[in-house]
Amino acid sequence: MQDDRALVSGLIEACREIIAAHADHLSELDRAIGDGDHGTNMRRGCEAVYEARAGLCLLPLPEAIERIGVILVMSVGGAAGPLYGTLLMEIGRRLGGTDADFGTVFSEAVAAVARRGRAHRGEKTLLDVLYPVQDEVVRQTALAVIAERAEASARLTIPMRAMRGRASFLGDRSIGHMDPGASSCALLTSAICRYLKEHRPE
Ligand code: ADP
Ligand code: MG
Repeated sequence: MQDDRALVSGLIEACREIIAAHADHLSELDRAIGDGDHGTNMRRGCEAVYEARAGLCLLPLPEAIERIGVILVMSVGGAAGPLYGTLLMEIGRRLGGTDADFGTVFSEAVAAVARRGRAHRGEKTLLDVLYPVQDEVVRQTALAVIAERAEASARLTIPMRAMRGRASFLGDRSIGHMDPGASSCALLTSAICRYLKEHRPE
């Protein structure tokens, strides 16, 4: 329990730090193919979670994750808020409610995000990072490799044509830019993997 507390607190801090450091860049990516608010939205969400961390650390891990999802829905806004919120709420609920392994839990949560966004692989969204990460998590790949795969997957959205969200309004003009949601997702994945590698050796 003490261990879970430190884990929740450390991960919240790591996610807040990485998003704060890259918020301007995320908004710049969103200015190219959206409305320029993705960095601001994500920073607001991470700050809200950070503010709530004392209470979150008292909860069992699944409940803390679910609650973080609720906070993200309420604070991030935009398209990304409900999607990141769904991911965490589903992970938390499933971790608490079943004894399935984490790969299965994560895959089911990613499927819920896809349903929520009505999005598929290759449509230039954060799912283009979540699906590859899911593949690695299911294979129980080393954390450093999962982080690399997430970053490479975000770069692979550059040549894609956006099919969902605001960027889809640009049609072919969305080609040649990295998707902001894919970028934030890769940043968060890397930060989480780095933290876990350091504090929970494999
Ligand atoms: P908004 O587009 O409302 O301004 P954000 O800028 O915070 O919201 O988030 C934009 C990101 O959300 C996109 O880069 C994309 O990754 C993701 N996104 C948008 N719509 C969808 C969708 N229908 N399914 C999956 N992801 C989506
Ligand atoms: Mg936006």
